[in-house]
Amino acid sequence: MTERKIPLAGVIGTPVSHSRSPRLHGHWLRKYGIAGHYIPMDIASEDLEDAIRLLPRLGFVGANVTIPHKERIMAIADLVTDRAALIGSVNTLIFRADGKIHGDNTDGYGFLENLKHGAPDWEPGVGPAAVIGAGGAARAVLSSLIDAGVPEIRLSNRTKNRAEGLQREFGSKVVVYDWVHAGNMFDGAKTVVNASSLGMQGKPQLRIPLDGISNDAVVTDLVYTPLETGLLAHARSIGCRTVDGLGMLLYQAMPGFERWFGIKPEIDDGLREAILR
Ligand code: NAP
Repeated sequence: MTERKIPLAGVIGTPVSHSRSPRLHGHWLRKYGIAGHYIPMDIASEDLEDAIRLLPRLGFVGANVTIPHKERIMAIADLVTDRAALIGSVNTLIFRADGKIHGDNTDGYGFLENLKHGAPDWEPGVGPAAVIGAGGAARAVLSSLIDAGVPEIRLSNRTKNRAEGLQREFGSKVVVYDWVHAGNMFDGAKTVVNASSLGMQGKPQLRIPLDGISNDAVVTDLVYTPLETGLLAHARSIGCRTVDGLGMLLYQAMPGFERWFGIKPEIDDGLREAILR
């Protein structure tokens, strides 16, 4: 009788010590009593392809991919999902039994699930969304807001041509606002998203005038250190429904864990505390 291999998964990046994924997946592995392991793997760019090809042979069922490999991995994976292609990066790999490496991006899923759970009465179709930032995270936000049926997405970024690039890719629902007039995009917006790194610990504060945000908007921030950013504190003070960014990190991890270990994990307060600790 052959003994079943212990399933292994992990996160690949460089550096990788900052990643909260090992704590997150470790919590679920313990919670569900799964005899598996989730390991941080610091892999240099020049070793990336060799390492990825070797992992399945070592007993890995999949992996997360983080900075700086999220884009390059697309060319290494044998199959890339449509949503990963649209977002332009891969954060979750599945090593299939037939030997194929499957690449997916679950950031948009994580963003949307977090918003739906954090503001259950959020209605994407009721009006425009205003999005700050045009980096990798903004791409995931745009694709999921469009999927959810938001009629118009106002987008502003310090470097305007990055926002214009996203407008070309994501189409006419995206309307670009100059960075100096970014405050204007809040007028009538029903969903407000900070997808820039402004407001994060160690980064400059978000300095856009926020007085145009109305109290019927749902406001969310992808930054989760601190948990309550300046944007969320302002939004809460005027009566908006607010959703912090930690949930996005937790929800984006669910599809990978389910595919690798066969259990759909739960997100509860214990998990949030374990990650924040
Ligand atoms: P990124 O690709 O490096 O993009 C950074 C964005 O922030 C760009 O739009 C950039 O504008 C803007 N920015 C940075 N410094 C700025 C400054 N001083 N003034 C104005 N704009 C500035 O990063 P990313 O991957 O999109 O991540 C963005 C944020 O989301 C990060 O804080 C990240 O931690 C967070 N995030 C959270 C989750 C989650 O699960 N909650 C998931 C992904 C990302 P320019 O284009 O002008 O440089």
